Amino acid sequence: MSNYIVLVKQVPDVTQITDNAFDSETGTLIRTRLASVINELDAQALAFAHYMKKISGAQNGKIIALTMGPPMAEEVLRYALSRCADTVVLLTDKALGGADTVATANPLAFAIRKIIKDILKSGNDYYVVTGMQSVDGDTAQVPPQIADELDLPCIAYVTGAEFKDSRFEFTRIISGGSQVVTPKKLLAVITVAKYEYPLFATFAGARWANKTEVIQWGSADINAAHIGVKGSKTAVIRVFPPGKSTRKCRQISDTKSLARVLVDSFTSGNGESGLGTETQTYRYILPDKRADKFDRSFEGTKKEQQDYEILTNVLAELGITDISRVDDADRKKILSAVGGRFHKKTLEDMLNGFKLNEPAFKGEVWVVAEHSDGAVHPATFELIGKARELADSLQTKVGAAVAGYEIEPFAKELIAAGADNIYIIEDKLLSVFDPAAHRKAIADCVSTYWPQIVLYAATPQGRMLAPMVSYRVGCGLTADCTGLDIRDNSRNGLIGILLQTRPALGGNVMATIRTKNSKSQMATARPGVMKRLPPDSSRTGNIIRHKVQLSDDDISLEILKTELGTGEVNFGADVVVSGGKGMQSRDNYERLMGMLCDGLSGKLGTQVERGASRAAVEQGFIERVHQVGQTGTSIGPKIYIALGISGAIQHMIGVANTETIIAINSDPNAPIFKQCDYYIVGTVEDTIPQLVKALEIV
Ligand SMILES: Cc1cc2nc3c(=O)[nH]c(=O)nc-3n(C[C@H](O)[C@H](O)[C@H](O)COP(=O)(O)OP(=O)(O)OC[C@H]3O[C@@H](n4cnc5c(N)ncnc54)[C@H](O)[C@@H]3O)c2cc1C
Repeated sequence: MSNYIVLVKQVPDVTQITDNAFDSETGTLIRTRLASVINELDAQALAFAHYMKKISGAQNGKIIALTMGPPMAEEVLRYALSRCADTVVLLTDKALGGADTVATANPLAFAIRKIIKDILKSGNDYYVVTGMQSVDGDTAQVPPQIADELDLPCIAYVTGAEFKDSRFEFTRIISGGSQVVTPKKLLAVITVAKYEYPLFATFAGARWANKTEVIQWGSADINAAHIGVKGSKTAVIRVFPPGKSTRKCRQISDTKSLARVLVDSFTSGNGESGLGTETQTYRYILPDKRADKFDRSFEGTKKEQQDYEILTNVLAELGITDISRVDDADRKKILSAVGGRFHKKTLEDMLNGFKLNEPAFKGEVWVVAEHSDGAVHPATFELIGKARELADSLQTKVGAAVAGYEIEPFAKELIAAGADNIYIIEDKLLSVFDPAAHRKAIADCVSTYWPQIVLYAATPQGRMLAPMVSYRVGCGLTADCTGLDIRDNSRNGLIGILLQTRPALGGNVMATIRTKNSKSQMATARPGVMKRLPPDSSRTGNIIRHKVQLSDDDISLEILKTELGTGEVNFGADVVVSGGKGMQSRDNYERLMGMLCDGLSGKLGTQVERGASRAAVEQGFIERVHQVGQTGTSIGPKIYIALGISGAIQHMIGVANTETIIAINSDPNAPIFKQCDYYIVGTVEDTIPQLVKALEIV
């Protein structure tokens, strides 16, 4: 008999954002102006736990919902009670506020231990079930970190389950396909990526939910090791509105105009990609390498840069050239000259900042290389390009850590891509990706050599491995970065630190984050955002073999089936047309896609390749090898045409490097319209035949 501990979270409703939810001066989102709802994927996780209990046939298993949050988070527990939860626990305490993922996962894991001891009174058969990620944090880091703290297998991105031979078999999303796995132990942390069978509350259920006790625990009840701001390993240093999309987002009213736009975009081409590519900032230089020793233009925030500029000007006016000789009389003169812009303590910190030259972190800049089926993931090469830039700024080397079996041939490619040192952790037990075994291998290697920066690809594998490694070695981690820069925070004694910028709250705000209380700075970065360097086969590097003791006990999952894409596809084509779930059927996909691809290749005289969204692949419209996106292929054609595709982030990051994106969708509010260059509101059935005709005459 299994029990189910379901983690639920109350989040702002980012799907219903009105204009007055934004601060008119800063342009950032004011969270309190949004309604609070249960995180959608947690609602799906609750329904999934209910389904697991049903298919297991053991009706006496308990479902316990747990949340950490302010007192009002009780609402999501009542939601859980009214659907299927037997017992609910609210972990609430001011001391827990302001937590990052480490200081969230840690108290939640301690609360789970207390649930097992005090409520279930048995710890040998339970599952922790939760949504893959929350819409506010968007990191997907908390569940793997809980798994690491509790030493449980973690099965992420689950979309289905079956109960066979007294055990669960889970279907999960992996890069390029899907996999069926079962945990080797009975216990596991499951994160749900999609389960579209919601539970509804009955009238009696709602009444019962309102009457039932919500168990409340505070920080002292669980005695966790890392809580609140103090226990966090990252700090947000800036929140700002996202830059305007560089896409044109222009509506076209008729197919003739669209045909003209298509031909013009193809023949002229702007040579530029739109979204996604990291905004170019100027390259960091260490303080002692700068032409002017008073140059503090690499401070992390505009305010810090301006303060230093003012101080530098005042020092010049006062003729001060040697900071170590500034005395009390000079300090008085400086403070009166800056006119109250900063106070005595700040001045002291800033003057001390001038004396610093050494980076706050030491060691190489590393990339954890991802590979499958004998090939390195393209995102690894992009990260090495970025690591090269960061390492050159910091005057250190680029390392690439690879765990697997028969992986030495990758070293040549990684060196050609820009790496200097390749750390090879080779073991037969690492032949296929197992989160626990790979975590052990990489964590051991990191904590032996202590690089100052570790980058992972934000793929399903990287988003699972990175939180487990960082948690195990006690370092902060920032998820899904779209910008990575070296900057100083001189007044706090920090030189050459990694500033990690990422979208949050469903892309409605951007946050810049730095690592604290850690020996290494860690981040995952979205595929398709960083730039790969042209391979240079004349580069040389070193291979360092790192041995880790592994045994069968380190393998957490049994892989029962893997389904990956097969067949040939040329995503290097200048034009790619993708169909989504809006194509309605395989027949429609075949017919309309064939018609448009033929029309386009005839008119433009080029090869046109077929693509698809994940939903279209799952509907069986076309083979998986044609999937575009985060877990499909990232592409950068001249023209990308999306037919009946809504514009989910996981799809759009796969086409970020496209020159011109065109969308056809019947929903006038389709999110893709805000992420494309030209669009038509209309059904694919009506629009495509008209567009093909129009192409013949323009
Ligand atoms: C870990 C993870 C990885 C993922 N990786 C990927 C990935 O690599 N690639 C990917 O694509 N997705 C990926 N997804 C899934 C992604 O989140 C979306 O679910 C998916 O992209 C949706 O596909 P869609 O736009 O075709 O379907 P939907 O979101 O269902 O959209 C269908 C669209 O068709 C429109 N439509 C309906 N009928 C018509 C009509 N007759 N004519 C015109 N328009 C019509 C609708 O208005 C709607 O906008 C991933 C998800 C997760 C959790």
